Amino acid sequence: MSVVDLLREELRGFAGYSSARKEASGGRVLLNANESPWTVPGDALGLNRYPDPQPAALRERLAALYGVDPARLLVGRGSDEAIDLLVRAACRAGRDAILISPPTFGMYAVCARVQDAAVRSVPLLAAQGFRLDVDGVIAALDDTVKLVFVCSPNNPTGARVAPRELQRLAEATAGRALLVVDEAYAEFASGDSAIALQAAHPHVAVLRTLSKAYALAGARIGCLIGDPALVGVLRSIMAPYPLPTPCIAAALDALAPRAVALARSRIALLRQERERMARALRRLPGVVEVFASDANFLLVRFDDAAEVYRRALAAGIVLRDVGQQPGLAGCLRLSIGTPEENEALLALFDARPSRAAAQAVAP
Ligand code: PMP
Repeated sequence: MSVVDLLREELRGFAGYSSARKEASGGRVLLNANESPWTVPGDALGLNRYPDPQPAALRERLAALYGVDPARLLVGRGSDEAIDLLVRAACRAGRDAILISPPTFGMYAVCARVQDAAVRSVPLLAAQGFRLDVDGVIAALDDTVKLVFVCSPNNPTGARVAPRELQRLAEATAGRALLVVDEAYAEFASGDSAIALQAAHPHVAVLRTLSKAYALAGARIGCLIGDPALVGVLRSIMAPYPLPTPCIAAALDALAPRAVALARSRIALLRQERERMARALRRLPGVVEVFASDANFLLVRFDDAAEVYRRALAAGIVLRDVGQQPGLAGCLRLSIGTPEENEALLALFDARPSRAAAQAVAP
């Protein structure tokens, strides 16, 4: 069975829009795309031209970063776009479903809603540190479930899914549904990527992004790594020119060796800060629980989350209130910032001066 058999039948053989850049690349005189022959003064990027829909240089750098063949990679506007494409490619409106494990990233359900696909929920096991209920997910698979989304590390709970559990899910979904492992925060965790599963399980798709560890949320660069046949179908339903030229340039800069080395050192610092913040928060009165995290944020349950949220805001610090999500009453999600930003957050809870202030008064 090909992965394409797991997608909407009516998309089989669909070529999508044939853009000028897709039909022909290179050439000296470009008279095929109704572009302006001139650039705006000061434009060094050639913005008068449509961009390459899937720039080879960017795909090669991303492929090297993730250790995959470029043919297995689809680059889009953040991993958000890949989620949307997957739902549209796999689910027939009004008939099919996705399966998610809440509390989790909201875009899976949003994209399903837009596509009029049903959302089956198998909640994380709150009493076991929000562990994925693998048996529950497997039991909930039926003919209508076309996509199973697993977020690892999970947003907003923070923990990654054990490789053994993912392996079980990959085996159970084979021939039935695509298994999508969203690894937006993988750089902050230890251990193998689910990409390793793809050799034996072509129906596993992995989502990665430059928005978190590579500091490029504003450029909107994310990718799907999966079977080339899946990449081909998603490309056929994608916008003709998804990636703006300045964003391609920013991504290439962010993936240059020196920038990657800097990103790695910052990832290490964020991981250290995450552990320092978790220890410090656990000691504070009013903190009920700090959940273990493999990501660049901490999920924290407070006695009075609304008051903490308000106090932080009054000090100019914006936190994420996730208390409305199932099982997360009283919880806030705190991104890990610079050491100074993290100190400013801790300083809210007691009378200690912030590190910056302490340095200012040091002899
Ligand atoms: N997946 C997860 C789990 C996320 O938390 C986010 C962003 N909050 C995304 C995907 C989307 O990331 P982007 O579109 O910026 O790549």
